[in-house]
Amino acid sequence: MDRYDRQKLLLGEEKQKILQGKTAAVVGVGALGTVAAELLARAGVSLLLIDRDVVEESNLQRQLLFDEQDVGKSKAIAAKEKLSKINSSITIMEKPVQFDNQNIKMLDDVDIVLDCTDNLETRFLVNDHCRKQKIPWIYGAAIKTSGYVMPIVPEGPCLRCFLKEANLETCDTVGVLNTVTTIIAAEQATLALKILLGENVEPILSYHDVWNDEHKKLMITKKAGCPACNGVFEYLDKKDTAVLVRFCSAGKFQIRGNKPDLGSIKERWSKIGKVYGDGQMICFGSITLFEDGRALVRAKTKEEALSIYSRLVGN
Ligand SMILES: [Zn+2]
Repeated sequence: MDRYDRQKLLLGEEKQKILQGKTAAVVGVGALGTVAAELLARAGVSLLLIDRDVVEESNLQRQLLFDEQDVGKSKAIAAKEKLSKINSSITIMEKPVQFDNQNIKMLDDVDIVLDCTDNLETRFLVNDHCRKQKIPWIYGAAIKTSGYVMPIVPEGPCLRCFLKEANLETCDTVGVLNTVTTIIAAEQATLALKILLGENVEPILSYHDVWNDEHKKLMITKKAGCPACNGVFEYLDKKDTAVLVRFCSAGKFQIRGNKPDLGSIKERWSKIGKVYGDGQMICFGSITLFEDGRALVRAKTKEEALSIYSRLVGN
């Protein structure tokens, strides 16, 4: 008997071995990402975990890998710690960074990408890169009581074949049920396992409303004028110059600055209060500063966020 016994009974020894040689990237380790990552880790798939954010108490309602002890920690790092305890035989890499077209090459060595983000901009970026590099990926999205999931493979239709650039609600103003995020993530993980094992998947957009018990399937076809399918990758070339970004979770801002000397800043902050750090970031009061120069600041307004930043970090 080994840990994959029940899975081997279903898939066979050979396919289990194949899974254990595969790596999946999980972009966004939140409601969808924590669930999908845990399922894939338990199934024997190695992982690349990417998330720029830290765990907050309001995440615990649906981000199943995290507990109260994780509040304040980087999501990518906290998830890796938890998953390593669940399966120490897989490789888990963590990237607590702002994922953008400058560092998207980190996806090049993975076998599949799971879109577990909460924003359309990142999804279109993943779409462009995966189309260009011929990497299969799984689109997933959930809000309120419903969600969507679809496998996107190199030769089939892509996200831009059916999704317009500005037609999604943001999670700022609406809630989300933890059962729907879990269902969507489980379906994403299932599709990932099938693709990793070379099974055929149809370009079907699945819709589930768990509260109203509505489930629909829509066969997607390639759109003639789709830029990505015609080799035009707008999101890969976009220049992102935004210094300050308001996050999906209300009251949080991200400010991009120069790479800081975390050691000396930690020393400075320690003189005025308690500083928490995990090697890749330090946290003090309402500010979390990462080694790549990003700062997450809890504040009511943009101005307040910038003022906290300049007071504690400087530049
Ligand atoms: Zn397309």
